[in-house]
Amino acid sequence: MLGELAAKFTEIGQPGFRARQLLDWVYRKRARSFAAMSDLPAALRTILAERFTLGSIETVRRLGSDDTTQKYLFRLPDSQLIETVLIPASPALYGEASDRRTLCISTQVGCAYGCKFCASGLDGWKRNLRAGEIIEQILRVEESCGEKVNNLVFMGMGEPLANYEQLLRAIGIINAPWGIGLGARHITVSTSGLAPQIRQLADQPLQIRLAISLHGATDPVRTQIMPVNRKYPLAILLDACRYYHARKKQKLTFEYILIDRVNDTEEQAVALAGIAADLDAKVNLIPYNTVEGLTWTRPPLARQQAFQGVLRSRGVQSTLRREKGHDIAAACGQLRRQTMTAPVA
Ligand code: SF4
Repeated sequence: MLGELAAKFTEIGQPGFRARQLLDWVYRKRARSFAAMSDLPAALRTILAERFTLGSIETVRRLGSDDTTQKYLFRLPDSQLIETVLIPASPALYGEASDRRTLCISTQVGCAYGCKFCASGLDGWKRNLRAGEIIEQILRVEESCGEKVNNLVFMGMGEPLANYEQLLRAIGIINAPWGIGLGARHITVSTSGLAPQIRQLADQPLQIRLAISLHGATDPVRTQIMPVNRKYPLAILLDACRYYHARKKQKLTFEYILIDRVNDTEEQAVALAGIAADLDAKVNLIPYNTVEGLTWTRPPLARQQAFQGVLRSRGVQSTLRREKGHDIAAACGQLRRQTMTAPVA
């Protein structure tokens, strides 16, 4: 953070304004070495290069799909792998004029929550990402594609709210005018439903958006898909959502992966409509992406549309997502698993 960095400069006998100069090089000019920071004294650049490193993640693979979704596999300094997905606006989804570029970033290596549709949870949790590792995913992707990301979702590998401290630190830097400068309303945190942290987040001043991975509208169905529902069943989760909604006065989003004959019944649609209407939330319906090693399948299109029809008939705003990235294993954690089991030459 700017204040911390200014204090560090003071410690080494440098004026505090050098901190802002350094951040300008990192976030605006995107310098890849201290040597390139030409308006810093040469002696200071040498000291910085001796004490700190600039950038720690390395691009292992970049895959682009037919619909231009780009998937990045990054290696961290301890050789762990994480995934990041860039989803450019599609006219089919956002209209011709949209220039939306959404980046889906990771917050942990692996995940402890074991949602049953997700490849990230299959090998368990390894470690939390540091704020710098979270932010660097944005820097590396922008460097690679030559464009600015203007919409950010914490929906990649890991449960963001289980890495709460580093997540908030990263968001602070991403949002700061001296950092990446992305508005809070363009940042969405997606959670499997950690009720206590949802309440904590509600008490933060930032107007970041919140998405809840619901995937089941009654406890028996949701628990079958999301083990976290045992710890925070719907009553507790939805109470926390109500608190968030009351504090932030903004629309929540419920993510709902449609899985054939598991959570796509009319009964679930009616229950989901009730939950969403109560919270004035919108619903993103996402047809299930096949995950190797898991037996579930996606419902036929007619069934997906019938499910959405129930929501519509009850006045709930919803989208039925067109599939993106299926051909490049874009479902959470799949590329990492494939690479771990079949190392890249
Ligand atoms: S969906 Fe998210 S919270 Fe659930 S296992 Fe995958 S990474 Fe973890």
